[in-house]
Amino acid sequence: MNLMLMGLPGAGKGTQAEKIVDAYHIPHISTGDMFRAAMADQTELGVKAKSFIDKGELVPDDVTNGIVEERLAQADTNVGYLLDGFPRTLDQADALAAITDKLNKPLDGVINIDVDPEILADRLSGRFICKNCGATYHKLYHPTKVEGTCDRCGEHVFFQREDDKPETVKNRLKVNIEMNTPLLDYYEKRNLLYTVDGNQEIDDVFSAVQKVLDTIKD
Ligand SMILES: [Zn+2]
Repeated sequence: MNLMLMGLPGAGKGTQAEKIVDAYHIPHISTGDMFRAAMADQTELGVKAKSFIDKGELVPDDVTNGIVEERLAQADTNVGYLLDGFPRTLDQADALAAITDKLNKPLDGVINIDVDPEILADRLSGRFICKNCGATYHKLYHPTKVEGTCDRCGEHVFFQREDDKPETVKNRLKVNIEMNTPLLDYYEKRNLLYTVDGNQEIDDVFSAVQKVLDTIKD
């Protein structure tokens, strides 16, 4: 099965990717891993990519697409693959379609783990830290035993990292929604999009994923 996984930050994509890979014995192909491997192996494209990354520049699409093509050409993907983090734009989606056609490994389905952005904002902005001792808490998953009092040192002043602040988190989600929406439409039009309700327990989300994959397999 040739799959792609989509979902906003905090939607549980990483967890579901692990479960899919374990259950269906297909390689997990994430953009980050692909780049790291190409750079570590010093492939021609890896060296090129590194030259842009070192300058703090975006890697151009022809390099990124080339790295994806080299990865998908490897034999371990003959049984299928789970693509994660690529494509991020419609141009890349078109490039991926061309690559997978050429390799005769076309996508069978795109799984979108769908979670209400409001819920994601709460999840992603819940972390706070004791200013005195550095103990870390989360308002949903790990609150202090007594509200406003650090369990460890008893002080009452807390702060949030810049990345965890609600404004930062909301902006990150907004950017991702703007990036994902055209891709979701793209795959919807091609009858490849399967949306799974991510507002459930991890195992229930995976059951929903499995149900989708069972229909794809047939
Ligand atoms: Zn403390």
